[in-house]
Amino acid sequence: MYIDIHTHHPKTQSNSYFALANMMVSKDYLTYKPCSIGIHPWYIDDNFDKQLEALVQLQANEAVIAVGECGLDKMHSTPWDRQVMAFERQIALANELNKPIIVHCVRAYAEVLTSLMRMKTKVPVILHGYSKNWELAKTLLHHGYYLSLGANILKGQHLDLLQNIPLDRLFLETDDKTIAISDIYAYFCHARKLTKEQLQEQIVQNFNRVFNYSLV
Ligand SMILES: [Zn+2]
Repeated sequence: MYIDIHTHHPKTQSNSYFALANMMVSKDYLTYKPCSIGIHPWYIDDNFDKQLEALVQLQANEAVIAVGECGLDKMHSTPWDRQVMAFERQIALANELNKPIIVHCVRAYAEVLTSLMRMKTKVPVILHGYSKNWELAKTLLHHGYYLSLGANILKGQHLDLLQNIPLDRLFLETDDKTIAISDIYAYFCHARKLTKEQLQEQIVQNFNRVFNYSLV
């Protein structure tokens, strides 16, 4: 089975394809199940308390199996203190609900780490769309976090990341791209010298460890 851990364009699920659709409060409707739901740093409402209340209500649905994507983005105009506040309150929510958290991070890894530690995060953390180098990856892995790699790996940069990332901390994703998840699996398998079956089996194990959700 292929698992796409973070997509904005899920296709129909089947025995060989599972996608965790990502929904953004104030932007998407709860159309896909299962899904993750969060308040994206690009879309923080003026009335954040009301937006958070909407998120809490959506999270009561058992098909919602993760909090996020949420996080910090230095390339976006949302005021920084609002981003940090929204991120930390969603970490608190994930802790309270005991659900994994899916993190959006753009040029803010140090600040994301600070928030995750300040909030005493006790749930699994998946840093989605990771495309930085192996050195930074080692720091993040040291904290116990998972890294989800996407279409960026096909550019051929950071091969040492693909060759060294512990397989039990890996997820793959398509995010907002139209690429097939099978193409990302194939590229990773080639770089890591794994069979498709080995990688599929490993990521199913990772999924089962992190999520309280039965794939079959
Ligand atoms: Zn996304």
